[in-house]
Amino acid sequence: MIRTRIAPSPTGDDIHIGNLYTAYINWAFAQKNDGKFIVRIEDTDRTRLVEGAEQKILSTLNAYGIKPDESVEVGGEFGPYRQSERLPIYKKYAEELISKNKAYFCICSRERLTNVREEMKVQKIVPKYDKYCLGRQDEVKKEIEKGIEYVVRLNISENTEVVFDDLIRGEIKINTDNLDDQVLIKSDGFPTYHMAVVVDDYLMKISHVIRAEEWISSTPKHILLYQAFGWELPVFAHLPILRNPDKSKLSKRKNPVWASWYLEQGFLPKAVLNYLALMGWSHPEEKEIFDHDEFIKEFTLERVRAVGPVFDVKKLEWMNGQYIMKIQNSKFKIQILNFYTDKHLDEKIVEQSIPLIKERIKKLSEYWNIAGFLFERPENFEKDLSEQKELLTSVAVRLKKVESWTADQIGEEMQEVAQEKEVPFGKFFMTIRIAISGKKITPPLNESMEILGKEECVERLLGANS
Ligand code: GLU
Repeated sequence: MIRTRIAPSPTGDDIHIGNLYTAYINWAFAQKNDGKFIVRIEDTDRTRLVEGAEQKILSTLNAYGIKPDESVEVGGEFGPYRQSERLPIYKKYAEELISKNKAYFCICSRERLTNVREEMKVQKIVPKYDKYCLGRQDEVKKEIEKGIEYVVRLNISENTEVVFDDLIRGEIKINTDNLDDQVLIKSDGFPTYHMAVVVDDYLMKISHVIRAEEWISSTPKHILLYQAFGWELPVFAHLPILRNPDKSKLSKRKNPVWASWYLEQGFLPKAVLNYLALMGWSHPEEKEIFDHDEFIKEFTLERVRAVGPVFDVKKLEWMNGQYIMKIQNSKFKIQILNFYTDKHLDEKIVEQSIPLIKERIKKLSEYWNIAGFLFERPENFEKDLSEQKELLTSVAVRLKKVESWTADQIGEEMQEVAQEKEVPFGKFFMTIRIAISGKKITPPLNESMEILGKEECVERLLGANS
């Protein structure tokens, strides 16, 4: 049974776009293998918790359509899915390691730890804990009974090779002499990331740990823990970290990193996920646009390349535009209405506007800019029309008489006025366009005027710039 997971920490405003990428890969891999995808909330670092972050992460995942099979919200047989609710479990497993002499209590003060490290640095050896408390556990336990603060550390044996196979990167090897006797249980009673992630991945029967490259250096520590418990290892695959076009790491300072930002900007969830799918992976037929089903069918972890893929918002915009062009008009209407709920747009006008704007916008947020004049009279005009009043009045008078208010008819009547008045078409239609919409660039004018209706057009022509 294939079981994958993501373990987001509720320590930011939302889920990071890089974590959304990891989520999509985990989700798709589970789907492909008739497996299960789990979302576990990793809230063990109490100092970094952000109020509301957990809820936001879950709702953003949901908005992208990445639905977990097991989570805090949907439950499941391996719960609880929030690590802060699993403290007795970690405690029990820590005790198991202590009883096997694979872990030990440590009561060293911060000051002592710093001194030991400083001393090692001077001697040019890898700074790490010197196992001082390991040799005096009886004494340490007595102190703990008296109430002194303590942590639990993993007892790592010296000079041993830790080797594991990363499905994307191949064999990775590290000598334990480079590893610290890491803390498993902190003095506040919470587990560290290393302890919690291993215990939970084991208990939740995670078969594939697919996560970002930044966790590679933690993996040997996890392997030592699996070995200490005598547990079988899951498969590890470390995905490349997304980069800015200048190859720097995606960071809040340079790029919008929160996944919900892209939705707020009017990117379509499926377009964003399609773009993310191409990070480090390519379709065997080099296709760029494909839906979930096709991705699920074609995706393999082995095809993921380890080098940092570039996440380029411009390219994503292009892809979003491609999605918009292909979307059914009825679905697109709903997306526009949902995107602009606070504007209470007239549904009929949205529907009529779609054929005019669909090929011209790349994001939902551009809709208002291009089609807003169909709902609201312009207040600003990109060109001064005060010299054109007479012309505008003539057009208004002519259009008032039109009986069949269709784009073609409107166009013909206006052309006739232009000819009568001997105004070149270019200038003439620009004047009308600005009077009607306020803007120099709009969807096709005659069609837009048909949508607006005769009365509204006449009023706009008469009232423009007055
Ligand atoms: N909490 C870590 C994160 O935010 C999880 C790392 C892991 O998947 O092991 O990415």
